[in-house]
Amino acid sequence: MEKAAAGAPEFLPPDQHVVAMQTPLKLVFDRLLAHFGPQSWWPGGSRFEIIVGAVLVQNTSWKNVERAIGNLREAGVLAPEALAKLEIEELEELVRPAGYYRVKTRRLRNLVAWLIERFDGSLDRMFATPLDDLRQELLSVSGIGPETADSILLYAGDLPTFVVDAYTHRVLARHGWIDREADYYQIKDLCQENLPADAQLFNEYHALLVRVGKEFCRKTPCCEGCPLEELLPEGGPLGRE
Ligand code: SF4
Repeated sequence: MEKAAAGAPEFLPPDQHVVAMQTPLKLVFDRLLAHFGPQSWWPGGSRFEIIVGAVLVQNTSWKNVERAIGNLREAGVLAPEALAKLEIEELEELVRPAGYYRVKTRRLRNLVAWLIERFDGSLDRMFATPLDDLRQELLSVSGIGPETADSILLYAGDLPTFVVDAYTHRVLARHGWIDREADYYQIKDLCQENLPADAQLFNEYHALLVRVGKEFCRKTPCCEGCPLEELLPEGGPLGRE
């Protein structure tokens, strides 16, 4: 296995709970993009469909989310007001393919209730709100956590906020660019401080990290042939699970 390429930063030993600040994040992106090509996430869906997808995708596959969204589309309720008016049992049945359907139904209802009350159901008004303020408001909606809020802001709102997920954590930790104990905000800050605030870049970057996580950086890493292999620290990936 080849070690860190010439010019790549040396591995920084992680201090407890401290995020290493020197990471080759742009180089990582360039390598992932060169290897996998553009991922074109959520290319055709409406903004509301993307919001619904961001809520439903937690703890399930995208295939299951597509089935639930297909149900909602067929029922003609892929709009805030229509979704808010539906009987809760009907909505649960439509959402059921996405799993955890009772919890996800409640989250969807909380979100559309907030959207209607706060912005009269208008996504234009919602996404015209300053990013940091809108993010805080979204996080105040019951059941909406940082990853869902950032996915909504980035993928539906085209706003430059980095989405962190388990794959992001895994890839960065195995290369020693973050401590294994780093939390969501430490990782998000690291990425945003080391990359230009560009929604298209963040959009593509998250999708590429998911792709490398699924194809190479699995529970047991398959580093041979991975586009990030040359950026591994001396001795290979850290903290094998
Ligand atoms: S599979 Fe190996 S080289 Fe690829 S991202 Fe994971 S740890 Fe890095």
